[in-house]
Amino acid sequence: MGISKDLYKEPAPIKSKENPFESMMARFDIAAEILQLEEGVYQYLKTPVKQIIVSIPIQMDNGKIEVFEGYRVIHNDTLGPSKGGIRYAPDVTLDEVKALAAWMTWKCAILNLPFGGAKGAVKCDPSTLTQVEIEKITRRYTANLMSVFGPDKDIPAPDMNTNEQTMAWIMDTYSMHVQRTETAVVTGKPVILGGSLGRREATGRGVMICTLCAMDKLGMSPTSSRVVVQGFGNVGSVSAKLLYEQGCKIVGIGDISGGYYNPNGHDIPKAIEYVSKHRSLEGYPDGDHITNEELLELPCDVLVPAAKEDQITTRNAHKLQCRLIVEGANGPMTADAEPIIADRGIQTVPDILANAGGVTVSYFEWVQDRQGYFWSLERVNRRLERAMRNAFEAVYQTAIKYNQTLRIGAYILAIDKVARTLKLRGIYA
Ligand code: NAD
Repeated sequence: MGISKDLYKEPAPIKSKENPFESMMARFDIAAEILQLEEGVYQYLKTPVKQIIVSIPIQMDNGKIEVFEGYRVIHNDTLGPSKGGIRYAPDVTLDEVKALAAWMTWKCAILNLPFGGAKGAVKCDPSTLTQVEIEKITRRYTANLMSVFGPDKDIPAPDMNTNEQTMAWIMDTYSMHVQRTETAVVTGKPVILGGSLGRREATGRGVMICTLCAMDKLGMSPTSSRVVVQGFGNVGSVSAKLLYEQGCKIVGIGDISGGYYNPNGHDIPKAIEYVSKHRSLEGYPDGDHITNEELLELPCDVLVPAAKEDQITTRNAHKLQCRLIVEGANGPMTADAEPIIADRGIQTVPDILANAGGVTVSYFEWVQDRQGYFWSLERVNRRLERAMRNAFEAVYQTAIKYNQTLRIGAYILAIDKVARTLKLRGIYA
C-alpha cells in the first residue's frame, strides 16, 4: 500500500511563518484544532514550563574575561523528566531553543518514551574557542543549572557542536557538585563513562529505518534510489553511510563548505575518512563542487536534510526534484514551504519522527545507567529498530485516519498522548 496521495490533496491552511518556533506552533495549531483541544490544555501545552537564561563568565586563554549567554528551556514534563540536547552556536536564540524543546516533547511522546521535552544552548562559536575555553563554558553552564539538571528531573544530551566529550564534562561537573558519580544525568556520553553502544549512530540509524519504512509504503526500492544528504556531521554522515550500506546511491553530500555531486554515487566510507582527517568536506576531490542551494535541488529520489533548520523554504520548495524528504535535522522545512512541497506530491517524513532515534537510544542509555547493566550493540539496535518501525506505523495510521500529512499525523499522535496524560494527572493547585 502506498501513502495515499489524498493525504496531500488538502494542505492545511498554515499561517505565514518562517522561524522555527512559529513554524512549530503553526503545525501545533493545526493538530490542536483537529483534536479539538480544549483552550486550557492548548495554553498549557503551548507554554514552556521553564525558560532559564544564565550568564557564563569565562577567563579566556589570553587572560581576558568574556561573558557568554546560556539557555535551558523545559517545554513540558507531563510524561516524565525532561530530555533534550545542548547546542553551541553563535546565532542561537531563545525562540529557537523553545521550538527545539517543544519538538523534544512531541518526539518522546511519539516514541513512547517516559520523558518530557527540553533543549539547551550556549551562544558561542566553538570554531573560535580552544578546548580549554569550551570545557570552562561547559562546566560553568552546568554549575549554573545544577538545580535544573538531574537524572529524575532534566537530562541533557549532545546536539549541534557538542559531543561525547561535552557530555563527559557535564557528567563530571554535576557529579562533583552532588559528591557522587551520577552517570544518568546526561546521555550521549563516551561508552567508557556509562554511554550506550549504538548511541552515536542512533539518530542516523533512525533516519535510515524511517527511509526504508517510507520507501516500502511508496513502492520504492533502496537499490534503485538516488539519495542526497545535506550535512555531514553526526546525523548526516551516519544516515549517508547506513543508506549506502542498504544499497542506495548517494549522489550528493554536503556540509558548511558546500555540496559535492557525483551522479555515479559517492563512496561514503571514503568521504567519512576524509572528514575525520580534514574536519570537513572542504576540498573533497570526488565529484563536482556545487553550492548548498544546488545540492538541495539535485534530481534524486530521497532528500535527507541533516544540517540545520530552515533549509527548505518558500524560496526553493518549488525547485526540489525529489520524491521523498526524510528530515534528519530539526525543523529543516519551514511551515510556509510545506504546502508547496505537499502540493507537488513530495512526501515528507517529519523531523519529530525521522530523527527520534537519537533520543530513543538516549532513553536506553539512561535505563542502562540506572540499572548499572549494559546491553550489547545488537540488543540496542534491535530495540531501536522495533521502536522506530512501531512509531512510523503509528504516525502513518494517524495520518490516514485524519486524512492529513505524516507531519500533522505525528503532531496529532503526540499532542493527543500528552493531553490525555495531562488530563489523567490533573492540574495541581
Ligand atoms: P553536527 O554539528 O555534527 O553536524 C552538522 C553538519 O551540518 C556539519 O556537517 C556542518 O558542516 C553542516 N552545516 C552547518 N551549517 C550548514 C549550512 N548552513 N549549510 C550546509 N551544511 C551546514 O550536528 P548533528 O548532531 O549532525 O545535527 C544536525 C541536525 O540534526 C541538527 O538540526 C540537530 O538538531 C539534529 N539532530 C541531531 C541529533 C543528534 O543525535 N546529534 C538528534 C536529533 C536531531
